[in-house]
Amino acid sequence: MRLDLYDSLQSTPTATGAERLLAAPVDRTHTCSRCGAHSERVLAEYKQRDGNRRRLCVECARSMRSHAAQCEAADERALQTAWAREVTTDPTSAWAHLHYPPRGRTTSGRLRPPPYVLVTAVDHTGALLVRMTIRLAGLRSTEEVPTAAVPLEKARRQLARRLGGRRLITWESDHAHTIAKWIREGGAECRRVDGDTLYYRLPRWRGIVRDGNRVYECLPPGRADRLYVATVRMAALPELADDARAWLTAGPGRTRVEVTGDEEAARRIHAVLRATGIVADDAEAAPVPLDDSPVVVTMAVFCDRDGVAG
Ligand SMILES: [Zn+2]
Repeated sequence: MRLDLYDSLQSTPTATGAERLLAAPVDRTHTCSRCGAHSERVLAEYKQRDGNRRRLCVECARSMRSHAAQCEAADERALQTAWAREVTTDPTSAWAHLHYPPRGRTTSGRLRPPPYVLVTAVDHTGALLVRMTIRLAGLRSTEEVPTAAVPLEKARRQLARRLGGRRLITWESDHAHTIAKWIREGGAECRRVDGDTLYYRLPRWRGIVRDGNRVYECLPPGRADRLYVATVRMAALPELADDARAWLTAGPGRTRVEVTGDEEAARRIHAVLRATGIVADDAEAAPVPLDDSPVVVTMAVFCDRDGVAG
């Protein structure tokens, strides 16, 4: 195949006459259907969340990707909140954490096994269950170990007594695996539920979107009490939405709600209100562009204040 390359910045008039040029469907292919920008070139089509395809300019495509990622993040956040509410109300839950000291290297450069570890654990009220330094190095080891460190044999029995029968919630699954093994060796069993790791759940609850992509990592909170606090926040913060629902259902009657902003957002709000049974009439969403700005619309929605249950 042979392609003639040309510099797109150098416009060479073609032989096409004005009549044919005016007849070309330029408006449809060159106009961004979101912000109304008139591009010099044909705009790419993008699939929307509603399944329709729209031609968008580069900036609108970027902001649509960000917006879509934020919507997905919000859905995921709700799942994480539900998990956090489940474990914070379960009296058998225990948040446990292992803190290893910085590890030295052997003369050949290999990492030495950690000489000791600090184990912390709290229950579903945040009360301390375990705070204990366990000696992992052998008695002849020259590595420094805190004098209060408990030998592993004794530590296993103590862990079995205090954490036996509980559901372990940890930062990462390695911690849960190690602690569960020690509890078993100490003569008890604990529950390990797949996915009870904040390493996986906390960033999904945070739902940060950066440059149009979701961010799947965050800083580890640290000790068990801090893991617990992070989980309580996950469980509690979206209660703002509950407050809003309570306010909406407080007084019965019909009310006119005016929505002003981006057209897509306005339609989405209308769809959400309709899906939750709040919209009082059968009218479709009818956004009207504001006079001074083609991007901003205004829309009136008639709502039943008592249209929501629970
Ligand atoms: Zn645009």
